Amino acid sequence: MENETLFNEEAEPPGPVTGLVKVKNEVIDFFSIDTKTNQPYPAKQKPDRIIFPFKDSARSRLFRKRHYSDITRFEWFDWHWQLRNAIRDVNTLSQILNLSDNERQAMMHNAGALPVSITPYYASLLDPFNPSAPLRRCVVPVVDECLHTAGEEEDPLNEDADSPVPGIVHRYPDRALFLVTDSCSTYCRYCTRSRIIERSNQSYVDFEKWEKAIEYIEGNQNIRDVLLSGGDPLTLSDSKLEWLLMRLHKIPHVELIRIGTKVPVVLPQRITPALSAMLKKYHPLWISIHIAHPDELTPEMSAACIRLADAGIPLGSQTVLLSGINDDVATMMRLVHGQLQIRVRPYYLYQCDPIPGSSHFRTPISRGLEIIQGLRGYTTGYAVPTYVVDAPGGGGKIPLLPEYAVGWEKGDLLLRNYEGNIFRYPDNHAELKDIH
Ligand code: SF4
Repeated sequence: MENETLFNEEAEPPGPVTGLVKVKNEVIDFFSIDTKTNQPYPAKQKPDRIIFPFKDSARSRLFRKRHYSDITRFEWFDWHWQLRNAIRDVNTLSQILNLSDNERQAMMHNAGALPVSITPYYASLLDPFNPSAPLRRCVVPVVDECLHTAGEEEDPLNEDADSPVPGIVHRYPDRALFLVTDSCSTYCRYCTRSRIIERSNQSYVDFEKWEKAIEYIEGNQNIRDVLLSGGDPLTLSDSKLEWLLMRLHKIPHVELIRIGTKVPVVLPQRITPALSAMLKKYHPLWISIHIAHPDELTPEMSAACIRLADAGIPLGSQTVLLSGINDDVATMMRLVHGQLQIRVRPYYLYQCDPIPGSSHFRTPISRGLEIIQGLRGYTTGYAVPTYVVDAPGGGGKIPLLPEYAVGWEKGDLLLRNYEGNIFRYPDNHAELKDIH
């Protein structure tokens, strides 16, 4: 077994049998020695384009040889190459996946609100034959995206109403959400912010907008926590991202910066040593990683997370509950256990937001509660995320829990434990008015 491997390597895309193996929690960097000649590889890259940040997995190697036989490992590990070669059209995708009629139609008619973009790396994780496979459903459109049902809105969280200047959402008094880009390397079909995603796939930075957003944060002493999101902030170059971090870090009342990203999952090659060294300068910096399914926890992704954790960055995860993808206890258990092994603390489990064309992804709330009930008590407390509904209309995140407090009786609080047994807690300090 190779040291960097979190999961058993498989030549084919991972399936439900992918099993956890013990991980040696360190990143093996690919130093630039060619094992055939024993000579160093030519140092032809700029620091932020360091290639071979990790050793590649057997599956990824096989996929590259099969579908990108003319490119080198250097190119495969260059995140710019991955971005430039993101799969965006039906012809390219159909060479990799055996597309169903439903998928093909959706792609040909550009059915949903979002463009299609899938990095070659993430495409290597997709099951080529099964349109119902979890990761494939996350990124390949289907015509169901055209079906708009009651309660669905372009901006279900009403973020635009809480936006004092473009790019800022200021909903909670002490925190600001800063939408720094409108593009991602790979688009999730259930994205809450599909309304702002750049359809032309031309990622550019609007510095004037950034300046106004930073001015707003500077002028609001209540803001102690800034969350960079988008789009995906880690698709920005090191220099642009550092410019932003430096400006925010200088603001005396900003105590904490957070980044929300899916890059370690869909483009782990982006987590270069240069990026982590740069991020490390702006502590306290926290990163929330959007992870949907345990099949995403590949050797490359785990190496990216471990590298960020080694830079002292606390990592949390955000998972959207998705029908037929991750909405069962066994899948979620695999996911949270895998995350803990790579030092990513399960943070939020989100009820899927009602964006237009999302009904095929949404589950009943009861499913989320069942999952929390199936985790709490059955695994490490750190592994249990907070299940939240982001209230439509702009009410913010509302946590939901199974009913553990079942009532009061003769001054005792009646509590149900994870096995369903009832216990009494002498709640002597409760006021009579609290007891009903
Ligand atoms: S990574 Fe986040 S912002 Fe980008 S498409 Fe997925 S959910 Fe949307």
